[in-house]
Amino acid sequence: MVTSKPHAVLLASPGMGHIIPMVELGKRLLTHHSFHVTIFIVTTDSITTTSQILQQTSNLSSLNIVHVPPIDVSHKLPPNPPLAVRIGLTMLDSLPFLRSSITSIDNLPPPSALIVDMFGLPALPMARDLSMLTYVYFATSAWFSAVTVYFSVSDKKIMETHAESREPLSIPGCEPVRFEDTLEPFSSPGGEMYEGYLEAAKQIVAADGILMNTWEDLEPAATKALRENGILGRFTKGEVYAVGPLVRSAEKKPEGGKKDAVLQWLDGQPDESVIYVSFGSGGTMSENQMREVALGLELSQQRFVWVVRPPCEGDASGAFFDVASGVDYTMSYLPEGFVKRTEGLGVVVSMWAPQAEILQHPATGGFVTHCGWNSVLESVENGVPMVAWPLYAEQKMNAFMLSEELGVAVRTAEKDGGVVGREEVAEVVRRVMVDKEGVGMRKKVKELKLSGEKALGIFGSSHHSLSQMTKHCELHLQASH
Ligand code: UDP
Repeated sequence: MVTSKPHAVLLASPGMGHIIPMVELGKRLLTHHSFHVTIFIVTTDSITTTSQILQQTSNLSSLNIVHVPPIDVSHKLPPNPPLAVRIGLTMLDSLPFLRSSITSIDNLPPPSALIVDMFGLPALPMARDLSMLTYVYFATSAWFSAVTVYFSVSDKKIMETHAESREPLSIPGCEPVRFEDTLEPFSSPGGEMYEGYLEAAKQIVAADGILMNTWEDLEPAATKALRENGILGRFTKGEVYAVGPLVRSAEKKPEGGKKDAVLQWLDGQPDESVIYVSFGSGGTMSENQMREVALGLELSQQRFVWVVRPPCEGDASGAFFDVASGVDYTMSYLPEGFVKRTEGLGVVVSMWAPQAEILQHPATGGFVTHCGWNSVLESVENGVPMVAWPLYAEQKMNAFMLSEELGVAVRTAEKDGGVVGREEVAEVVRRVMVDKEGVGMRKKVKELKLSGEKALGIFGSSHHSLSQMTKHCELHLQASH
């Protein structure tokens, strides 16, 4: 048994958007920083669904993956629980299994570090108890990380003023957050979400380190703010590491393996001619909104690939917990005749599509996205400009960054809970795919792609950052001998 290599345990919370970035971080630690890696995956749906998708999306052969037996917390939930509440309760229930598994690992050295995402915070005391270092992984932007760190120490009055005056929330060293883009906890100070998020933020800043799936050149101001003691750096106990962009890349099909139908279709389309439309692993829309998307795509006269899920009224994350289950090939909720009329022009995929492969395909020229951070990075990694259509969580901040700061997306106009009409759908699609504006965005996003690649290179800032974190773990390991 080699003891000089540190062993990191990674804990991924439910949802493919949480699991995928954790797996990518695990791969990176294993392949570039000589860690032993064990990843615990918490699911609410059947393990089979998650692991099937994982197998399709990641080359996992060398990773030690442990599936926590599925946890059902439905009997503990209030009516219409927020997503965060359900995930949080599930994570709490996973702790006994996690602890007993960690203490009984016998084929690898005892773990010296635990890395959790924002929902895995309840596991941190257990890690300390087992003399492990604790890290929180923000699989999102430095800007959002900075907002969270600032929140941990900010005066409630500041939040109240933000909520009442609807003025932007100033964040030291960073772009202010507009009220329209603010997260629910910030817009209702004193509410349950506010208190819960405050507690979480305090636990995050007390960890031994914070990792973020971004890179210095993408977000120089926010990264600097988080690191400098004169700005936000003094509020975190440990270092802040920008280690991205860690994204899933397209899988190579084994020799003779069957190619997905949508990829075959893309093979027959001209370069950069297809807009890919997908709202993440769990995004859902009302029936009315879906009709407008369908008719808008038709009106835009652009080739498209659209991933659809049955409509869900009043819940933008309606499929978060049952990803890819219940594939409905009839797609009877689409406008009558839509599929027939758009035959040849577009492809509609039910529930789940091979996104990394689609974005990497030369025929893909634009992406209508809900701005989940993984989707954003996957689009950037492939040099694909976006239509930013945020739905929930920190996605509105991501949309602001993409459209207002980086100039790689156009944003759909907010309708205050209303519906984005077909004319607007067609317009934003054409702005990216046809107009001169789209040409400029494509150029900029390709520059970002190169900057991300540089950050991960051997002399890059993200590689260096993860090496620093590795050193931290190695020192801890030596000290514990
Ligand atoms: N994804 C996919 N196929 C789909 C939908 C999503 O492969 O049909 C993947 C996507 O590539 C990304 C992740 O699921 O890696 C979604 O993460 P993101 O942060 O974009 O959004 P979330 O699902 O967390 O809202």
